[in-house]
Amino acid sequence: MNAPNPDIATNLERVIERIRSAEVAYGRTPNSVSLLAVSKRQPVEAIRAAYQAGQLAFGENYLQEAAEKQSTFASSDIEWHLVGSLQSNKTRAAATTFDWVHTIDRAKIAQRLSDQRPDALPPINICLQVNISEETQKAGCSPEEVLPLAAATADLPGVRLRGLMAIPEPSTDCTEQRRSFAKLRKLYEQLQDEGFRMDTLSMGMSLDLDAAIAEGANYVRVGTAIFGPRNN
Ligand SMILES: *Cc1c(COP(=O)(O)O)cnc(C)c1O
Repeated sequence: MNAPNPDIATNLERVIERIRSAEVAYGRTPNSVSLLAVSKRQPVEAIRAAYQAGQLAFGENYLQEAAEKQSTFASSDIEWHLVGSLQSNKTRAAATTFDWVHTIDRAKIAQRLSDQRPDALPPINICLQVNISEETQKAGCSPEEVLPLAAATADLPGVRLRGLMAIPEPSTDCTEQRRSFAKLRKLYEQLQDEGFRMDTLSMGMSLDLDAAIAEGANYVRVGTAIFGPRNN
């Protein structure tokens, strides 16, 4: 892969400022929104640059690519989040090497992660991915499936249900962006009303993180705005 973008530390600082300004603008508690740096298809040196600038949580989409990076930073305190889709025959690798999986859309995947989570590690943190714009061919459970999926995963011993995640249909219109994020927030609140104890609303990326924060996101997943364009 190519050399890392030389501006990563500056970009990271700008993204953090953007998050803090959105917290103020939308009346959110200061420092209540965490940043996940999505480093898929970026070189190891890009992760190193962000890590040296203070970033600890990194998101990866592909298990094999992540494995290389995870072995490079094996003795670090980096927290690894899987934000790409997970097939049921790959759950063992994810259960062993990740701290979080944001993309659970079937009970079977959560069950396997729970069974395969090594005893020496704390339960793996999971978010349920919702296909909030109800696009065909898109990952995530439907809004109607969220409640039964939460019920099926909340008590698994090897996983800890933390919240919901969505990737809405892209839009450049802030009102439209907020409408999608509001749907996920409402589902999240419904689950809380049902008694599910969760603390994570994972939504918002480089182009729409401000709208996501306006609607209650507390984890934004940002790639391009930190690392620049990805290698393909
Ligand atoms: C790639 C990716 C991101 C980051 O997207 P950017 O537009 O580069 O910020 C966030 N979430 C998921 C699930 C992704 O796959």
